[in-house]
Amino acid sequence: MNHKQIRKIFLSFFKRKQHKILTSASIVAKQDSSLMFTNAGMNIFKDFFIGQKHSQYSRIANFQKCLRITGKHNDLFEVGKDNYHHTMFEMLGTWSFGDYFKKESIIWAWELLTEVYKLDKSNIYVTIFKGNKEDQLSFDRESFQYWKNQIDDRNILFFDKKHNFWEMGTTGPCGTCTEIHIDLRNEKEKLKIPGKNLVNKKHSLVVELWNIVFIQFFRKADGTLVKLPNCHVDTGMGFERLCMILQNKKSTYDTDLFTYLIKSIAHKTKQIYGVKDKIDIAIRIIADHIRAVVFAIYDGIIPSNKKSGYVIRKILRRIIVNYYLTLKIKKPFLFKLVKPIICYIKNSYLNKSHLKHDISSIILSEEKFFLKTIKLGIYKLEKIIEQLRDKQCHIIAGKIIYWLYDTYGLPIEISKIITTKNHLKVFYSDIL
Ligand code: ATP
Ligand code: MG
Repeated sequence: MNHKQIRKIFLSFFKRKQHKILTSASIVAKQDSSLMFTNAGMNIFKDFFIGQKHSQYSRIANFQKCLRITGKHNDLFEVGKDNYHHTMFEMLGTWSFGDYFKKESIIWAWELLTEVYKLDKSNIYVTIFKGNKEDQLSFDRESFQYWKNQIDDRNILFFDKKHNFWEMGTTGPCGTCTEIHIDLRNEKEKLKIPGKNLVNKKHSLVVELWNIVFIQFFRKADGTLVKLPNCHVDTGMGFERLCMILQNKKSTYDTDLFTYLIKSIAHKTKQIYGVKDKIDIAIRIIADHIRAVVFAIYDGIIPSNKKSGYVIRKILRRIIVNYYLTLKIKKPFLFKLVKPIICYIKNSYLNKSHLKHDISSIILSEEKFFLKTIKLGIYKLEKIIEQLRDKQCHIIAGKIIYWLYDTYGLPIEISKIITTKNHLKVFYSDIL
């Protein structure tokens, strides 16, 4: 199944269950001043949950572009190193606003995964909230009862608030959740360690797929919970992870959502993907980040020195440092990756970009400028190293590294690599 079929099946399934199908909202969290970017499908429906607005539809299914690079949900440092986190990912979502609750949510999730997508039941684990004294919440008995009718008891696990209580941020609508995890390991591995021991342990092949959240509360700024007037359902399933599972892959980067990018990056940087870990991670980071940057610019965030524009510029610079250092690329090339990503966006989403400028040109000028910055910074650092060498000094002051960053924008990680190469120790306490 390709990604288009996988998405279509999800939407048609919920359409048959009387859900209104909606397209994604922008990646920019326009409605919510507490967020910079949309980090989950539920952001756009926040007002419906708290009763400030009334939804025209009581059941909705959609797919939402999410960006997790700031705030409570920040996956930036997992990306590329593991095989299933992305900065920008698409979330397949279903919603009930004061309509059905735990029973239907659980039964339909199970039906879709096991009868429609035909996933092997024995590889599925579900988790349930076990209660929390501080919040005066008890064990989620109701979800347990419904799951018991579907799945083997041994595949039902209990976790605390950290895993089974979903919150958008420090305040806002929230509630207990039940999650669906999949074990993708081979039989030999499963015999060694049972899957249930690896759920929520950051194992690369035992991953969370779907979170079913029962929104019932509002977390106030003082940390207390108040009950909402109605109960709602908010479910989110990672599209990249679903494609990974259904396309029989061990990494989201090996699905048809990413292979075109991975191939293109490997080709353009003259590298082979799948041989050396360090190179593979660099290629994955580039593929992930450039997709996120193009999606964000498409939705109107131009790289700049302010707010969300600055965050996007930093992500772009993270890619450039990465290709400069690890892949030894000294010339702009990211801008050449833009076209197929735009094509994907246009084929998948209805919303048109209001952007006046060409995204490739925006990225090219960012690349040119930052590569120039790096080169000038390195030139300055090498001059300083030469002077130190003349004085037979093997230590460089941390404040020089900081000054190069502050004045010339030379990333500290680049300075560190160059100083190490030149056998210089950095004396950090002078900047503390
Ligand atoms: P994880 O523990 O794997 O980071 P999460 O608990 O942060 O997941 P949720 O906030 O519940 O995830 O999001 C709902 C679903 O979205 C997850 O079940 C997962 O399939 C997907 N998802 C979450 N974060 C990412 C990400 N960074 N990249 C890709 N998919 C993600
Ligand atoms: Mg997470």
